Amino acid sequence: MHSAIQQQHQGPADVVVLGGGPVGAATARLLAADHRVVLVDAGEHLRAAHRAAGMLAPTSEFRTTEPEVHALALDAMGRWPGEAAALETETGIGLDLRTAGTLHVALGADDLARTTHLADAARAAGLEAAPLDRRSLRRAEPGLSRRVAGGVAVQGDHQVDPRRLVTALRASCAARGVRLVDAAGRLADDGSVVLADGCTLRASVVVVCAGHRTDALLPGALPPTGVRAVAGTVLRLHGTPTAPVPSHVLRGRVDDREVYLVPRTDGELVVGATSVERGTDERVPAGEVLDLLGDAAALYPGVREMHLAEALSGHRPTLATPGPLLREHTLPGSDGPVRVVLSTGHGRHGVLLCHRAAAATAAAVRTSAPSVAPTPPARSSPSVPPTLEEAS
Ligand SMILES: Cc1cc2nc3c(=O)[nH]c(=O)nc-3n(C[C@H](O)[C@H](O)[C@H](O)COP(=O)(O)OP(=O)(O)OC[C@H]3O[C@@H](n4cnc5c(N)ncnc54)[C@H](O)[C@@H]3O)c2cc1C
Repeated sequence: MHSAIQQQHQGPADVVVLGGGPVGAATARLLAADHRVVLVDAGEHLRAAHRAAGMLAPTSEFRTTEPEVHALALDAMGRWPGEAAALETETGIGLDLRTAGTLHVALGADDLARTTHLADAARAAGLEAAPLDRRSLRRAEPGLSRRVAGGVAVQGDHQVDPRRLVTALRASCAARGVRLVDAAGRLADDGSVVLADGCTLRASVVVVCAGHRTDALLPGALPPTGVRAVAGTVLRLHGTPTAPVPSHVLRGRVDDREVYLVPRTDGELVVGATSVERGTDERVPAGEVLDLLGDAAALYPGVREMHLAEALSGHRPTLATPGPLLREHTLPGSDGPVRVVLSTGHGRHGVLLCHRAAAATAAAVRTSAPSVAPTPPARSSPSVPPTLEEAS
């Protein structure tokens, strides 16, 4: 009699992907075209994407994003409409990709100068951002505060529901023959993947996409990536008939704190997010909830009438250096060398970047490995090849 986990991972595999958030699930989905893939995932409680707002915002974030990441973000944005359409057609699961655009809202004269400057800088960088006066803003979003002084419209910044995204990616993986294992796993020194029930998976390639948890899954023989958790609290509210959610993503600044309001088609409103270094503590500080609610209501007073459904803290997988990490190592497996590909560090843009990250990670796996690799003799010690450049 096999346990549920054992039944999920019966049979041979070419690639084991450890971590099934947007990056890991999208990578497994691509690799399924020419590999036998097992996707091991510990669940939504360890998934940043379960907390994420899902803004796809290369223009709104371009001034706070490093130039290298901004180029990736623009490329990633270009892939989204086609990727979303393909995933929705394949799975029948709507991703709630909304393209109404983003409004940056200023509450006073100083703040108006800031948003105008943002629009000027964005246009100087070749991006689309249009200043809006108070009347145009309130026409676009009648529920905005009467204190609104003006703002900027960014038509090209969209949003998607990250929970639906992961559900759809997993459904697509299953349809493409990926075996889904719902368990925590870790990589052992011999390249095998050890699951929570003690069972072992072996493959010639292991891809680790476990977000901020990546280093905790690596064996002592491999150098850590240095990825760390940057905590963020988000709230989920539900609009009511008399206090509907806005139609655009709204972003603003209240008392020097950034706040955003991200509406979903089903009447949900995501309000976020703080950004705090406090390790991997998942508890939600009451003061952060207070600030987020107060700031959101200052921009959009109807928030006071909505129903609070969730307050969660999550962890952005963040590196000290700009840009995500894609790196390869080799471990001496019992049946031959095991290639280990690490893909993490997507910070606050991992939903936006996931399809691009998956393409780069899958390309790295395919670069030197045939689909079923021959197994040369095991080496006595792990080698550490240089960092991979992104494939494109
Ligand atoms: C509050 C907040 C708001 C955000 N807003 C946005 C946004 O608006 N736009 C945007 O683009 N990005 C946003 N992000 C960032 C985004 O969520 C992350 O960059 C993205 O989720 C990273 O994807 P990932 O697959 O690498 O990691 P994750 O989403 O963290 O997924 C990692 C997966 O690994 C699994 N795992 C962990 N340990 C193990 C183990 N031992 N064994 C097996 N599996 C394991 C987890 O269960 C999880 O499913 C936000 C993040 C936070 C916290």
